[in-house]
Amino acid sequence: MTGFRGQVTLDGPSGTGKSTVARGVAARLGAAYLDTGAMYRAATVAVLDAGVDPEDAAAVARTVAAARIEVGTEAGTEVVLVDGVDIAVRIRGAEVTRTVSAVSAVPAVRRQLVDQQRELVAAADAVVVEGRDIGTVVLPDATLKVYLTAAPEVRAQRRAGQLGITDAAEIAALAADLRRRDEYDSSRADSPLRPAADSVVVDSTDLDQQGVIERIVELAAVGAGERT
Ligand code: C5P
Repeated sequence: MTGFRGQVTLDGPSGTGKSTVARGVAARLGAAYLDTGAMYRAATVAVLDAGVDPEDAAAVARTVAAARIEVGTEAGTEVVLVDGVDIAVRIRGAEVTRTVSAVSAVPAVRRQLVDQQRELVAAADAVVVEGRDIGTVVLPDATLKVYLTAAPEVRAQRRAGQLGITDAAEIAALAADLRRRDEYDSSRADSPLRPAADSVVVDSTDLDQQGVIERIVELAAVGAGERT
C-alpha cells in the first residue's frame, strides 16, 4: 500500500515480535521507522561506559544528557550511535538488556529521549514508531495506535528461537527475564507500559508475524480511508 500519511504507534511488552512487525508494517506502508527501545538501550551503553551506578538516577540523568544519541529511521537498516560510535550490535547484548529498565525509569532520561523522538517523527510524513509509551505519552494524537500482546510462554519461545536456544532451563530463564522486565516497565511511576485507551489490541499468540503485519496494514488503510 502507498499513500499512507501519519503515525502508527506500536506498543507492548518484550517478545511479541514487535520489532519485526513494526519494520514489516513500515516497509509495506512506505513509511519511516523509529525504534525507541534502541534509544533507551543506547542511553544504557552511555551509562555503562561511564561506570555510573544505573540505580543512581541523578548520575544517570547527567550522563545521558551529555551523550549524543543518534538513531536511523529507515526500516531496512539499523543505525544506532553514541557519540559517533556504532553500537547497533552491542545494544542487543545481555548487559544492556539487564540494565535498560533502570535507565529508562529515570524521568529526565525519558524527557530527553521523548523530545528527540518527537523531533524525528515530525520530520517524517509517514512513520511507524515502536516502544512502550508511544500511544500513551509520546504521540497521543497518532493516526493509528496498536498494542501488541502475546501469551508469556509464546513470547519466551519466540525469543529463544531468535537466539537459537533450545535448552529448557535456558528458556525458563528467558521467560523469567521477560516477566521481570514487564513487571518493571509496567509498574514504574513515569510512563508505565499499558495500552492507550484508544488503541487496537492485537494478540499475536495465534497469529504469525505476517498475519500481524497484514492486520495492522489493513487497520492503517481503513484509517486513511476515513480521513479522505
Ligand atoms: O523494545 P526494547 O526491548 O528494545 O526496549 C528495551 C527497554 O527500553 C524496555 O524494556 C523498556 O525498559 C525501555 N523502553 C521504554 N520506553 C520505550 C521503549 C523502550 O521505557 N518507549
